[in-house]
Amino acid sequence: MPAVRLETEDDFDGWRAAARALAIEGVAPEQVVWQVGDHASDLFANPGGDRAPPLPTITPLRVSKPFLELARDAALHSEPERFSLLYTLLLRLLNRPQALEDRADPLIRRIEGLARNVRRDSHKMHAFVRFRELADGDGSRFVAWFEPEHHILRANAGFFVDRFTNMRWSILTPRGSLHWDGAVLKEGPPATRADAPGDDPVEGIWKAYYSAIFNPARVMPRAMLKEMPRKYWKNMPETALVPELIAGARKRELGMIEQARSTPVRGRGPESLVLLAEEAAGCRRCPLWRPATQTVFGEGPHDAEIMIVGEQPGDQEDLAGRPFVGPAGDVFDRAMAEAGIDRMRAYVTNAVKHFKFEPQGKRRLHARPNVGEIEACRWWVDQERAIVRPRLVIAMGATAARSLTGRAVAVGQERGRAVPLPDGTPCWVTVHPSYLLRLPPEADTEAEFARYVADLRGAAASLSAMTS
Ligand code: SF4
Repeated sequence: MPAVRLETEDDFDGWRAAARALAIEGVAPEQVVWQVGDHASDLFANPGGDRAPPLPTITPLRVSKPFLELARDAALHSEPERFSLLYTLLLRLLNRPQALEDRADPLIRRIEGLARNVRRDSHKMHAFVRFRELADGDGSRFVAWFEPEHHILRANAGFFVDRFTNMRWSILTPRGSLHWDGAVLKEGPPATRADAPGDDPVEGIWKAYYSAIFNPARVMPRAMLKEMPRKYWKNMPETALVPELIAGARKRELGMIEQARSTPVRGRGPESLVLLAEEAAGCRRCPLWRPATQTVFGEGPHDAEIMIVGEQPGDQEDLAGRPFVGPAGDVFDRAMAEAGIDRMRAYVTNAVKHFKFEPQGKRRLHARPNVGEIEACRWWVDQERAIVRPRLVIAMGATAARSLTGRAVAVGQERGRAVPLPDGTPCWVTVHPSYLLRLPPEADTEAEFARYVADLRGAAASLSAMTS
């Protein structure tokens, strides 16, 4: 059985070279033992043995960039099986390159999960490393202690070199250490917490900085614990401020929303929406971001008179990153045209910005967002509305109506008329276009579509009446 020895735990290039050689040889995944360090034998050290008959040779060996990016991240995970999993996927892709698009495939989901964990660990390292100043023979050196969950230290060295080029610093971790002297980066052995210094005057600067940037609207204590696990708190001087800041967070959040509605902090230009969308791209206010491909933000003019809110992106919107481009989007476009509303002049968005789904085989089936998720994402809808300041809002479906009104709405009873929102903006309620796609066979589809168009037309007419 071939044993592959990789130099280090993060030896992606070593894995890549070996995997290539094995694939060309046609070696099956279960025939390879992946090992790290000195205690393993060399590649093909036992090329005979109990090796399985070779697979058909695959040449030329070409893999896609998305696979390489995925593999590069996943290879840094602390999961011992990662190299074997990656090799299995590599062979599968060589035979069927489009297999990577099968997001329901258990192997792909597992490897994507590994890569996601590694990216999260890197993000934590960027965010939570805190340097303490020490005096050594050559002046000041800044030393930080960090405990990564995966083998990310070397991969993130460049980030700290770029960010702290003019400082002399060391980052100590149980997996190894980095030392930068202003010109040369050196690697060192693993360290312990006792090797790192305790408090120092630099902490005062961090605390002042943190108080200034603290955003009460982003406070979700449970999410904070996930994003900023307690194990990092002791390394971070500003965490001493967190209980006090959380205590006043709700009050400050309400104040911010009120301020945003009356005098939007981001202004009203198109750039305000762009900045908001960029901010939402990193949103972690609820768990829906994890399995989804991306945040699907609203689109349309920043000064649109009508804002139309749907439920959440569907499968195709999730992949495209745009709202209402899937089958429901086709129904929506047709109804808008019949109602005489120019979609290009409306601001179109969703109450929930990430796709919630249940995997079923290779398919991702729509799952309805719960109240907690709607409430979490309402922050973004409020901000969009504060920037666009539409004269009229259309809520399509119960989720959108709940997000806008803050209460449960029986769409069947309240559709086709305006419900005033707390700030006076009229909100017209109607069904979601996907409702028309899910009608039972015996339903009168044309009549339901006509009713939907009538709801939209009624909203448009009321806007005309407001402006005349
Ligand atoms: S669904 Fe909304 S609140 Fe939840 S993570 Fe996505 S953008 Fe944030």
